Amino acid sequence: MQTPVPDYLKHVLSQCQRNVGGQLADYIPELAQADPNKLALALSTADGMIYSSGDDGHEFTIQSMSKPFAYALVLEQLGIEEVLQKVGVEPSGEAFNQISLDKELNIPKNPMINSGAITTHSLIQTTAGISRAEQLRRFLSELAGRELSFDEQVYTSEMKTAFRNLSIGYMLRTVGALDTDPVEIVNGYIQQCAIKVTVKDLANIARVLANGGLHPKTGECLLDRAVVRQVLSVMLSCGMYDAAGDWLTTVGIPAKSGVSGGIIGVLPGQVGIAVFSPRVDEHGNSVRGIDIFERLSADMGLHLMEGTPSAQTIIQSCYWAGKNDDVRVYELRGVLQFTESEMLLRNLQEEPPGDTTIVLDLTNLTLIHDVGARMLFEGVERLQQDGHRVVVVDSEGILSEAQMKGNKRVVVKEKLTKYLEKFQ
Ligand code: GLN
Repeated sequence: MQTPVPDYLKHVLSQCQRNVGGQLADYIPELAQADPNKLALALSTADGMIYSSGDDGHEFTIQSMSKPFAYALVLEQLGIEEVLQKVGVEPSGEAFNQISLDKELNIPKNPMINSGAITTHSLIQTTAGISRAEQLRRFLSELAGRELSFDEQVYTSEMKTAFRNLSIGYMLRTVGALDTDPVEIVNGYIQQCAIKVTVKDLANIARVLANGGLHPKTGECLLDRAVVRQVLSVMLSCGMYDAAGDWLTTVGIPAKSGVSGGIIGVLPGQVGIAVFSPRVDEHGNSVRGIDIFERLSADMGLHLMEGTPSAQTIIQSCYWAGKNDDVRVYELRGVLQFTESEMLLRNLQEEPPGDTTIVLDLTNLTLIHDVGARMLFEGVERLQQDGHRVVVVDSEGILSEAQMKGNKRVVVKEKLTKYLEKFQ
C-alpha cells in the first residue's frame, strides 16, 4: 500500500497550475527574470516526514520568509522582553515596505514588515568577523539540515534599487530605533533576504516550529518553546502583511510570504507547508501559493480555529478488575491537556469515597502537557483524601521526571495486565 498523500499534493498542484494571476515582482530587477511557471509544494509532519511535489529542487531567494527566523534568532539571543523594547507585535495593516513606526512607542510595529525586520536584523548578535547575515545563514542551515548559500545576483540587484529600504533605515536611525550605520544594516538585511532555499528546505525548517522547537528526528532543542510560540503568533497576526485578516479567516495557518513567490506555513503540532510560485499579488504574496494553502486548509481541515474536541474521548474504557471486582481501572487515550484533564476529573468525581483501588492507565496517551500532569496528580491526591489507594500506570514512560516530581510513589512502570495480576 502506498500513502495517497503524494498523489493528493500532485493533484492540488495540477489544479492550481491553471491560475496565472499576479505578476512577477520587478522592483528587485533580478526577480523579474524568474520563470513564472515554476510551481512547487512540500509538506512536513511534526514527526519529520517530508512529502514534496513539482519543482521541489528549484532554489529561490527566501526574501521576507527570513524575517520570522531572524526574529527567532534574536529572541533566542536576547530574550523576548528585551526584543519587545525594540520591535512591537501589533499588526500594521500596511504594506510590507511602508515607512512607518508605532506613533506612541516610536518603534516598528512588528518584525514582519520591513522596518521591523531591518531593526531585528540589527539586533542579531555575532562574533567578530561574522556578519549578521552570515550568522542567520548558519542558523537557517541548521534548521534546514543542509548548508544554504547566498544568491549574489539577487543581492546585488536589490542593493541597486534599495531606495525604499534605505529610507526606512535612515528613518529608523533618526528616531534611535537603530543605533548603528543604517546603510550597513540595510545591506545586511538585503543579504539575509538573498539566502537560497527550496520548498523542501522550508518544509524542513517549518517542521522544527511545528514540533515546538525540537528537531523531529534527533529530539535536539533548536528553539526554545516560548520563542516558537512568539514567532508563530506574530506570523499569524502579521505574516501576510495587509492581507493578514483575509488569510487568517480563509486559511487560518500561521504563515510568512516572500516576494520571490514562496510561502511558509506552520500548524503547531501538525504540519509545516511550503509553496513556491513566483507570480505575486498587490500585497507581494504568491497568487498560486495562496490558492494552494486555501485548498490544503479546506481539504485537510487545517484551519487553526477548527480545534478537534478530544476531551470526550479521553477515557478509552472504565471497568472493574481484581478477584473481588474491587479495582477500578480507567484506561486513558490521546492527549492530556486542560480540557481532557477536566473531563477525566469530572468523571473521577463520581467515584464514591471508600477504600477501592483506582488505577489510571496512561499507556495509550500520546502526550501529557504539564497542565495535564498537574491536574492528574491533583486528582490522585483528592482521591487519596477520600480513602482510595491510587496507582498511575505509566508503562511507556510518558511522564517526564519534572511532571512526576513528588508523585513517584504512585507511579508504576509495569504493563497494566501485569500490574493487575497482583489482584487475582
Ligand atoms: N527583500 C525584500 C524587501 O525588503 C523582501 C520583501 C518581501 O519578500 N516581501 O523589499
